[in-house]
Amino acid sequence: MYANFDVVIRSGDPTVYETYWQENGEVTTMVIPGWQSLSYFSDENNLCWFLEPELGKEIVRVHKVVGNAVTQDRYIVVGTGSTQLYQAALYALSPHDESGPINVVSTAPYYSSYPLITDYLKSGLYRWGGDAKTYKEDGPYIELVTSPNNPDGFLRESVVNSSKGILIHDLAYYWPQYTPITSAADHDVMLFTASKSTGHAGMRIGWALVKDRETARKMIEYIELNTIGVSKDSQLRVAKVLKVVSDSCGNETAKSFFDHSYDAMYERWKLLKQAAKDTKRFSVPDFASQRCNFFGRVFEQQPAFAWFKCGEEIVDCEKFLREEKKILTKSGKHFGDELSYVRISMLDRDTNFNIFLHRISSSSNSTL
Ligand code: PMP
Repeated sequence: MYANFDVVIRSGDPTVYETYWQENGEVTTMVIPGWQSLSYFSDENNLCWFLEPELGKEIVRVHKVVGNAVTQDRYIVVGTGSTQLYQAALYALSPHDESGPINVVSTAPYYSSYPLITDYLKSGLYRWGGDAKTYKEDGPYIELVTSPNNPDGFLRESVVNSSKGILIHDLAYYWPQYTPITSAADHDVMLFTASKSTGHAGMRIGWALVKDRETARKMIEYIELNTIGVSKDSQLRVAKVLKVVSDSCGNETAKSFFDHSYDAMYERWKLLKQAAKDTKRFSVPDFASQRCNFFGRVFEQQPAFAWFKCGEEIVDCEKFLREEKKILTKSGKHFGDELSYVRISMLDRDTNFNIFLHRISSSSNSTL
């Protein structure tokens, strides 16, 4: 049953949601005729002129239904994934004077793409400044706060204790399948994405909720310069998916999208924690329980990734899992942390996740 091949469980590809959308996705089907999407423009009266009004409406609605973010008096900026919006936010928040690149920091372990995206063009505006915990420099800086955090799943607040910090909140995982929704997030710049909320990473749509008009204007300017807007077809598809998700939450007779996705994550975390307990050869973090305003009950976080620590005798956890178990993971070093950690995706397809579980649970070093 479990052949001796590599099981790849290192990217955050959200294919766990495929089963739900296969069973319930018919209502999201849409036909886009050839005469649509000719113009670059979506809404010339909106500051974000390339935002499809339908998408704007559904973003506001889903946040209201879930209660995870304040949208009132906010500018919505749509992006090609939150990856583009992160860069737009850096462009908008960096000083454009002679002061040189501003440092961008985040507490380790941080999302491994941040340092790469920040530095790949060697911008004169901003540069990666490393772990926020040890950041001591004077002057302005940008701090990225990812909550719940990728890779370790913990809730985060800013750590650099200075009034000169400019904050970007990446809330990609602040959805009820991953964490109790305790309040509506209300920060200056908040990034969300279809990739981790509904699982539609391939549509490449993210959105930013921005308080300050000038910041929003500059983010929009960045996207104009970078890609002259964002695919209308993708925006319309995400609008439809978000509509279906919000509608499903008001349906008393059927399980909502969040019920389904919560159950999937719950089941996986239960199995992983049990395997950690049984084998005692690795550990995963413990999380505190909180009351979720969306579900109206108390539960523990069940993050999209497991921050997996090998036992003391193993120095390099990634190498051990690769060589001894044929499990391909992402080493802690990419996240600014130790080699004893790896990141495991909890979002993969059932078959992959089950093979992974089977291999870490088997006592021998063979992969069966
Ligand atoms: N932020 C975080 C914390 C992420 O984990 C990811 C995806 N791995 C992204 C942003 C990028 O999301 P998108 O697909 O919207 O570009």
